[in-house]
Amino acid sequence: MLEFIRSDLAQVTSYSVHPADSSTDSSTDSSTDGLIAPIDRLDANENPYDLPKELKEKLAWMWQQTIASNRYPDAGYLDLKRAIAAYVTDTSKTCFSTANISVGNGSDELIRSLLIATCLNGEGSILVATPTFSMYGILAQTLGIPVVTVTRSLDTYEMDLPATQTALTQTQHPPIRVIFVVHPNSPTGNALTEAEISWLKTVPQHVLVVIDEAYFEFSRTTLAHQLPQYSNWVVLRTFSKAFRLAAHRVGYAIANPELITTLEKVRLPYNLPSFTIAAAQVALANRPALLTIVDRLLKERHHLIEELSKHQDLHLFKSDANFIHLRLQNSSNAELKYETIYRSLKQQGTLIRYTGGGLRVTVGTPEENQRTIHHLKHALAKVV
Ligand SMILES: *Cc1c(COP(=O)(O)O)cnc(C)c1O
Repeated sequence: MLEFIRSDLAQVTSYSVHPADSSTDSSTDSSTDGLIAPIDRLDANENPYDLPKELKEKLAWMWQQTIASNRYPDAGYLDLKRAIAAYVTDTSKTCFSTANISVGNGSDELIRSLLIATCLNGEGSILVATPTFSMYGILAQTLGIPVVTVTRSLDTYEMDLPATQTALTQTQHPPIRVIFVVHPNSPTGNALTEAEISWLKTVPQHVLVVIDEAYFEFSRTTLAHQLPQYSNWVVLRTFSKAFRLAAHRVGYAIANPELITTLEKVRLPYNLPSFTIAAAQVALANRPALLTIVDRLLKERHHLIEELSKHQDLHLFKSDANFIHLRLQNSSNAELKYETIYRSLKQQGTLIRYTGGGLRVTVGTPEENQRTIHHLKHALAKVV
């Protein structure tokens, strides 16, 4: 116990992909816990395909020829912001400029910047509807920001709107300043419904609405076109999922220029490495080629859901993203059963997440998905 550490941090656990058994988590040492190689990493909703060879070569060339390692990155990220603004304009049919864009070291950094800009100093709490992306709560806790949670329907994972409205209007100390929603939600895969969107439009001006569109390229649905009408909304996106750049850590926020200026105040200088900037620019410049894979992944998602639905003990949910959420039909002793399934899958070489009261499986390559179907059948035999 270090006496100089803030006392409330003792209650915070760091983000861990495999909380169930992090002590044995190892992807390289397969001898100790019976893991077989290769391991199918279907636990982080990454794109299963690396960048095409030509683009890697292009990046390697840029690294050698155009990036000076001894120099700080371009501080304003203007070229990258221009390319992002053009992409957002094109896909939302609404005009955005560099003044509407802020970039982050992953969208995780932007989530933290938004929290700093809105709630710090005891000025605000945040509201989330669980199950949802855990980083909102974790980052808030690390900043000493209270988290108010409401639940979702266990049938559809839609937000309980009356309860959410009550939480928002009840006096909270400190008052709720930010609502986080994911569109579509992780880990459950459902996009916002018309009713949810209508409700978000009624959120008062003193509360920021963060719409996290990490899976936009898979859902092909966005609320970016609404941003000009709702100055208390911000849309977050990332290059980590469909664009295959998880290794490079780059995300962006789309919002009105005033909020963007505030985010620019809060972020660290040079938060994006030069190589990351180059990678994001190359990805956007080669967008059609990179995103053709999305169709293939959506077909695979359909196949995965269809195959797993045949299993009478599983309840599959519709997904608008590149992952699927599933639960056991019979919920007695569920926690133990999910742990057992998770471990069995891991032992067979398939890594998934047990989170949000169910299992979340990333859609992988056809070969990986075939193995998932097979391994899951085997794992289920142990619990039902
Ligand atoms: C993956 C993910 C992110 C994080 O993206 P990074 O840009 O890699 O930090 C943010 N929000 C949601 C909902 C995600 O699933």
